Amino acid sequence: MVSMMFSFEVNPTHTDHLTPPALLAGYGPVDAETARRLAANAPGWDRVMTDPYTGAVLGVDRYRKNKDLERHLRARDERCRCPGCIRLARGTDVDHTVDAARGGPTEHTNLAHLCRRHHTLKHETAWRVRQLPGGILEWTGPTGRTYHDRPPGVVTFVPDETTAAALNETAPF
Ligand SMILES: [Zn+2]
Repeated sequence: MVSMMFSFEVNPTHTDHLTPPALLAGYGPVDAETARRLAANAPGWDRVMTDPYTGAVLGVDRYRKNKDLERHLRARDERCRCPGCIRLARGTDVDHTVDAARGGPTEHTNLAHLCRRHHTLKHETAWRVRQLPGGILEWTGPTGRTYHDRPPGVVTFVPDETTAAALNETAPF
C-alpha cells in the first residue's frame, strides 16, 4: 500500500509553486510525474483530502484498482455526476458516496465520478449526496432541497486501453 498526500487546490486558479504536488510518506515531497507513476502502479491507496489552508482532514476514502469496475463506472457516468456539470468522467475523481472510512463499499452502488470542484463541494460544504438504485445520485442542498442526477442511460462502448492507445496514435503519413 502506497501512502501519499496530494496537495488539493480548492480554487482552480490558485497556483502555489511553494507547495509540492505530493508528499510520499516516509520519503518526502515528490513531483507530480512521480506521484502519478506511483499511484498508477500501486494496487490501492488511501486518499486523505485535507484543507489546503488549515490542514484539516476533509475526507478519507480507500481506492483499489479494479479495471472492470472503472470501465463500468466510466460507461455509466460519462461525466461528473453533479447535476448540470458537463466535465467528462475521464480525468475526474471516483468518489465513494459514503466514505470508505465510514464503511462505504468500493462497488458501483457507492461510487461515482466527481470533478475536483464538485468533489470538494461534497466534502467541504453542507451539501449531502446519497446514491439511489439505478446509479441515481440524490444531492441535498443546505436548505434541504434535493436534486437528482441520473446516469446518461445510453449504450456506450468504452475502448480498452490497447484500443484507446491505438485510437490516439497519429497517422503514419
Ligand atoms: Zn463537476
